[in-house]
Amino acid sequence: MTRPLPPVSPNIAFFVDFDGTLVDIAPRPDQVEVEPRVLDLLAGLSEKFGQAVAVVTGRPLDVVDGFLAPLKLAVAAEHGSIRRDASGQTHADSRGVDAVEAAAAVLQPLVDANPGLILERKQVSVALHFRQRPELAEVCKDAAEEAVVNNDGLCILPGKMVFELRPAGIDKGVAVRAFLDEAPFRGRVPVYMGDDATDEHAFAVVNKLGGITIKIDGGDTVAQYRTDREGLFVWMSGLV
Ligand SMILES: [Mg+2]
Repeated sequence: MTRPLPPVSPNIAFFVDFDGTLVDIAPRPDQVEVEPRVLDLLAGLSEKFGQAVAVVTGRPLDVVDGFLAPLKLAVAAEHGSIRRDASGQTHADSRGVDAVEAAAAVLQPLVDANPGLILERKQVSVALHFRQRPELAEVCKDAAEEAVVNNDGLCILPGKMVFELRPAGIDKGVAVRAFLDEAPFRGRVPVYMGDDATDEHAFAVVNKLGGITIKIDGGDTVAQYRTDREGLFVWMSGLV
């Protein structure tokens, strides 16, 4: 069911996913393009809503910063393992770094043997992308399961044409809660926007806190609203 996106009060904090929400998904993760209007919207929201705008993504922090330059927003990177708060301070949860390294080593031979598969190494997580080889979905799933079975504390997070391997207990919902404990997010009503299974943790947290949750495009969700990227941008434009 689709219904119009809601009006918001001035006392709102914005949490927004990156891939598939702010930018269209590309064949390779490094090929996404940020439209100038997206930077304008984020800057406008940040100014209007007291800097209470955070990007919540599976991407590494430096990669997000590169795409969003010259903006330097609050960011939960790698699903929250690395989090830069609104004051610019970075919080890193580096538990699991060794296990992630070991898991990446298990996956590397599969990637070497199959052109088009991409292993994205990050600080505290690793992502196996199969967007260019969708027929290998099952093979990749099996490999991801093999990679975590001997690496205690890691879990698999299935996304769109990707399996993310990262320490259990870290997710986008935990990241949103951490931001909401801090200025300028504290005391504000959270709005969360995302397109993927990895956003569902955050949707659940924000629903529980009485906020607004918006799912971009198709797929099962616990979010309250659904739209496409264009609809989201129109709605955001009306708020600034
Ligand atoms: Mg996404």
